[in-house]
Amino acid sequence: MNELRSKVKELLGSREIDLFIGYEQGTRLPRPLIAASAEEADRLIFDERCTGNLAVYLTRKDLTGGKKVGIAASYYAMRSVGRLLDENQLQEGMVKVFGLTPDGGLKLFEAIADVKQHLQAAPAPPKQVEDEWMKEIAEMPAEERWKFWTSELSKCFKCYACRAACPMCYCTKCIVEVNRPQWLQPWAATLSNMEWQISRVMHMAGRCADCGACGAACPLGLPVHIIAHKMVEMVRQSFGEPTEKGNVLSTFNPNDEEHFIR
Ligand code: SF4
Ligand code: SF4
Repeated sequence: MNELRSKVKELLGSREIDLFIGYEQGTRLPRPLIAASAEEADRLIFDERCTGNLAVYLTRKDLTGGKKVGIAASYYAMRSVGRLLDENQLQEGMVKVFGLTPDGGLKLFEAIADVKQHLQAAPAPPKQVEDEWMKEIAEMPAEERWKFWTSELSKCFKCYACRAACPMCYCTKCIVEVNRPQWLQPWAATLSNMEWQISRVMHMAGRCADCGACGAACPLGLPVHIIAHKMVEMVRQSFGEPTEKGNVLSTFNPNDEEHFIR
């Protein structure tokens, strides 16, 4: 903890960063803290409880626009940072990433390219709960699965917290706010809620960091991250991992077998 605080203070003092996106102790759990001074940096914490994906703040231009930023990054936040660089949403030299080593030590990455290299060798933390949930849903007969999702998504009231928490949802104008043409029905009802979640996850195809922040943000606890998790698995099986050359949504391969179109 002290190592993080002193390093952040040093970087702020030398103007190598203008602000640091990290965590402080909340009432019960760690919560985000944007530190721009030594006093604020003294409140920083970073341990295994800090799993929220802070990369979502990196593309908020009102917060980080034109600024050099440091960030405390969980494994999935690191993955998001790498993908945001591939999508030209971040610039090398503007972001310093602090990660945690498996033994709880601090690791500073001066370049996002180093983060990406690190991730190639670092195994993803297990997602046992999500995997079991996904398997259980996949094994349901189609009618039961339909009932499950219509029942869950009928509760959604379109607050869009799932979108706000997602580091890869950075469009300044979202499809749900466009009304010429009206792509999606704006009201909350079972089918329009389903339409919203399917559209959201389709836009994440090959881009999703699988961080689970969308599900964690839902005030109703709807398992929308499981839809994203399933999408990640399907895309990985059919197209492999995204690379800096592009993802399934942004590339075209004339030899694509298109076996998913039936
Ligand atoms: S898991 Fe959810 S919040 Fe995380 S990147 Fe994927 S869609 Fe976005
Ligand atoms: S956070 Fe939950 S309630 Fe809000 S739009 Fe997303 S799924 Fe619906």
